[in-house]
Amino acid sequence: MPQRPVVGLAMQTQEAVPGQLPASWVMGQAYVRALTAAGAVPWLVPLLPDDEDTLRAAYERLDGVFLTGGVDIDPAAYGEERRPVCDRPDPARDWTELTLVRWAVADGKPVFGICRGMQVINVACGGSLYQDVAGQHPRAIKHDYFSPPATWPRDHLAHAVRVEPGSRLGRLLGAERVEVNSLHHQGVKRLAPGLVATAFAPDGLIEGIERPGSSFLVGVQWHPEELTEAHAAMRRLFAGFVEAVGVADGRRSGIPA
Ligand code: MN
Repeated sequence: MPQRPVVGLAMQTQEAVPGQLPASWVMGQAYVRALTAAGAVPWLVPLLPDDEDTLRAAYERLDGVFLTGGVDIDPAAYGEERRPVCDRPDPARDWTELTLVRWAVADGKPVFGICRGMQVINVACGGSLYQDVAGQHPRAIKHDYFSPPATWPRDHLAHAVRVEPGSRLGRLLGAERVEVNSLHHQGVKRLAPGLVATAFAPDGLIEGIERPGSSFLVGVQWHPEELTEAHAAMRRLFAGFVEAVGVADGRRSGIPA
């Protein structure tokens, strides 16, 4: 039986809660369960920005890199001042994820990014973000179905996206139009060189990106991990990523794919 491919996920910082919890790293369960259901072995990667050797050692054992949702990336990573609408950053996580993506891009190791993860891919490759879509993107529709009063479930289908049919994303989804959830207030402003936009919200905001070519580098702005039970197309995103991870793993091990 073939080995199940190993997919790394950088965790996120949880500040200490006095009397309850020391400073910790945490991970949303839905991401891990979606990867496990698709056949991957998820590995949670700690945030050690002062220890690149350990991150590199972990990276070299990974067959693929997965990037989850979370707080805003520090705009310094794309050369901007932080606006008041921008979250308090998680610098340890920014460093960990940007470093993992740059290594994976250089090596052709598969990468799949969700929400913040798509934004990390864009920034790591040289693009920039809207720090607040509602305030900065012309004609923006509502994308922040998480902010108070938050009465929407995480699987609430908030808007349609138009998908480029010839893209890897379009082939995986098997549809040119899908309904998606939307739990973000930032988005891609300047697309990084070498990446293409593959999905768009009705206001034109980019909701999918990828790098054309043989290696799997895909990001989506919505949260498919919340939609896998009810929507086969969303399960196919995870299945396609894990399949690509397995193929890449086999190639490195000298096993015919
Ligand atoms: Mn959206």
